[in-house]
Amino acid sequence: MLTLQKRYVIIDINIIYIRYLWGEFMQDTAKIFGYTENNKTCYKLKFNQIEYTTVSSVCGKSVFDFLWIGIKEFNAIFVSVAAAFAKGGVEQAVKAAAPFVNKNSYLTIYIAAFIDFLADESTADYFSHFLGSDFSLPQKGSNHYIMNVIDSMAASIEQKKAEFKFYFDKISKEKNGSLSQRFAMYADESKLFNFNFDIFYDADDETITYPLVTMDDVIRFDVMQMLVNKIKFKPCKCCGEYFIPAGRSNSEYCDRIMKNETRPCSEIGALKTFDIVHKNDDIHKAYITAYRRMDSRQRSKLITKDEFKEFGKLARAERKKCYNGEITLEQFQDWLDDFR
Ligand SMILES: [Zn+2]
Repeated sequence: MLTLQKRYVIIDINIIYIRYLWGEFMQDTAKIFGYTENNKTCYKLKFNQIEYTTVSSVCGKSVFDFLWIGIKEFNAIFVSVAAAFAKGGVEQAVKAAAPFVNKNSYLTIYIAAFIDFLADESTADYFSHFLGSDFSLPQKGSNHYIMNVIDSMAASIEQKKAEFKFYFDKISKEKNGSLSQRFAMYADESKLFNFNFDIFYDADDETITYPLVTMDDVIRFDVMQMLVNKIKFKPCKCCGEYFIPAGRSNSEYCDRIMKNETRPCSEIGALKTFDIVHKNDDIHKAYITAYRRMDSRQRSKLITKDEFKEFGKLARAERKKCYNGEITLEQFQDWLDDFR
């Protein structure tokens, strides 16, 4: 068993030697190692310039939250990190990044990779490879080099978001097959849905981890774990965007803040529901008031029992129209008032 130490678990014997070499290479190059724990996707970050750290969130949650972050926000975050680094090195950069770290696993990883790159120019090739095929490193020494790097990062992030949205819409509309099967259909077309991974058995920790060498690996690993762990996602009833309800909650609303709003959907949505319930209260109140009036008329023999029954039947039909929005509360009230 000792031979397993720091090597990959390889299934295909024919390619074992190549895979072994590749494995050693991956182990040396990878700075992120993925694993799962209690339905959470965890990433161990082992960057050179930053303390080792682990970020985690419910499998798949980072994907949907990541799609939500606007490109201007990404830009502003990277610019502030770069400015802090220029002033006070890694320490200041880490401080500037602190408010954004842990908000989203991918964002944290992007920031960590960026600081690592700022601190050690010799890692430029690694950084470029890490960001993926949709990133191109600007000419070194060019004017506004760092700003160009940030623009290039933002463009590659937009590309990944667009790709994910494009395929996700297709997968959501597709009716045949399980969710996993529908994702797997696009494995050849999109690098984000290819779920083949190398496995790394770490004998020191006695854990199985997945070395993730590109940002695409980071994302597809999370998507795969979402499918494996059968994590449910659904559209938010307020903003319409997909989200993963927290814990076991059967919440209908996401906890993100829409553009031009100050409160999250969960609060706005709950208020909307309250408004509807409240409105229904008024409809019910109008009906009950008229019903009581007619009931007392019946008891004082001003109308017959049959007339009272007939009123109840008609009034409930009108009330239904009002609940459905076919008539307004005012129209319903007028109808009740006219029934004398
Ligand atoms: Zn929402």
